[in-house]
Amino acid sequence: MLFTSLYIGVIWFTILFCRRWGTIEKMDCIFCKIANGEIPADVVYEDDVILAFRDLAPQAPVHVLIIPKEHIATLDDVECSDEHRELMGHLMVKTGEIAELLGLKNGYRLVNNCGEDGMQTVKHIHFHLLGGRKMGWPPG
Ligand code: 5GP
Ligand code: ZN
Repeated sequence: MLFTSLYIGVIWFTILFCRRWGTIEKMDCIFCKIANGEIPADVVYEDDVILAFRDLAPQAPVHVLIIPKEHIATLDDVECSDEHRELMGHLMVKTGEIAELLGLKNGYRLVNNCGEDGMQTVKHIHFHLLGGRKMGWPPG
């Protein structure tokens, strides 16, 4: 009986620990797998902290996703820490360079879908870089 309770306790602790630190979320994350090379992608730019790759279902002639390599689920999970400020600043600065690299001389659109109402389907923060045609407004 004692051993059974102990066993159940250890399992619960492990589940709660993994949930608290997002371990399960990271293990399941498609974009983490792309970032670490487990899943192939058409990469257009990479450095130590960010990755840009073509979207599997492009919505414009150019449709690239820009992600931090670190798993951050949504824009709401970006913290006010120096590390996150530096990371997000870097990502924004590099976005302009990536757009230039892709020949988007006439402008582009940068989109972040956040959470349920934002219709975010992949829970690893990403920015859609869309270009190569005139965009419609308002978005749906
Ligand atoms: P969201 O709807 O979360 O803003 O955007 C997720 C995007 O990821 C979608 O545009 C979808 O086409 C793209 N996507 C989903 N899975 C994959 C994948 O395995 N590889 C690539 N390259 N794009 C993906
Ligand atoms: Zn991830």
